[in-house]
Order: sequence, then C-alpha cells, then structure tokens
Amino acid sequence: MAAMKVIRYPDPRLREISSPVKAFDDSLRQLAGDLGAAMRAVRGAGLSAVQVGRPARLFVLDPWVAGGAAGGTCLVFVNPVVEAVTDVQLVDHEGCLSFPGVFVPVRRAARALVKAQDVSGRAFELEADGMFARALLHEADHLDGRLLVDHLGPVARKMLEKKMLKLARAKKALEDDEGRRKSR
Ligand SMILES: [Zn+2]
Repeated sequence: MAAMKVIRYPDPRLREISSPVKAFDDSLRQLAGDLGAAMRAVRGAGLSAVQVGRPARLFVLDPWVAGGAAGGTCLVFVNPVVEAVTDVQLVDHEGCLSFPGVFVPVRRAARALVKAQDVSGRAFELEADGMFARALLHEADHLDGRLLVDHLGPVARKMLEKKMLKLARAKKALEDDEGRRKSR
C-alpha cells in the first residue's frame, strides 16, 4: 500500500470534527499501522487520522515524546478524552506535520489526564507532563478540528497563514511543472 499523504494547512479537511471509533477491527489496526508509518516517513512525533483524510478519533505518537526510545512501537490513542488539565501553563515551540517547517510558541497546560482506548478497545488512563502532555493536547485538538494557527495572536496568525499559502502555491507550481513534463 502506498504511504499515506499528510494533508497540509489550509486544506479544509483539517477542520473536520472526527467521529468516534466504534469498530475495533482489522481495518482500525491497519489504519493505526499506516498512520505510524506515515508519521515515521516524515520523522514526525505525532499524527492524527484526520491529517491523512480519515476523520476518526485516533492518533499515534512516537514513544520518544513519552520518554521512550525513538522509533519504538507507536503509542496509539483511540477515542481519547482529555479529562483534566492543570492550571499551570507553559509556552513552548510547537510544530505540526500539516504545517511543515513551522515552529511557533504555543501556551498549553503543563499536565494532562487523558483517557483513551487501545486498538483492541481496552480502556486506559494516563497522566502526562512536559513534551508528552503537549503532544497529547496537540493531537487531541486535531480531532476537534483545532489547529496550531488557532493558538496564535492575530499578527502571528496572519504571518503564518501567508507563509502557508506561499508554500502551497510553490508546491502547486512544482506539481504543475512536473505534470507538464510528464505530458510531453
Ligand atoms: Zn498537528
């Protein structure tokens, strides 16, 4: 199967609200595996299904964000719910595979309590802090159509939108060029 393509901002599909996962079957395991492969292919730390055009409530994280070994078995969160966050918030630079090359300061809760299910439907709960909490909250945002850009003030947001449009235009020009070469 060809590697899944990560959708980039401002593609409107990134704004979709993902639907709860109901069937814990082979196709869910396949999707989780494909997500992990797509994330690794672009050296990402996390990827949600909606970012590859499959608006289901699940995402994967590379274990290094949780203090594990990079490249180990992906952490999979199905139907995740952020149960609680601390009032203490921290600002740190954050990136997103749908905003390639962009790192912007984002304020988020320092700790989060998250409930989710694994690919077999088994419920689990965990408390995360630091990078792990940030990654969880970032991916949970995706499932509700919330993006990096929504955390910025108006000026920073304008600049980021400009940059992404420029990038999209450059990519399209490249693809048009390739198309012309192929059709020759
Ligand atoms: Zn993201």
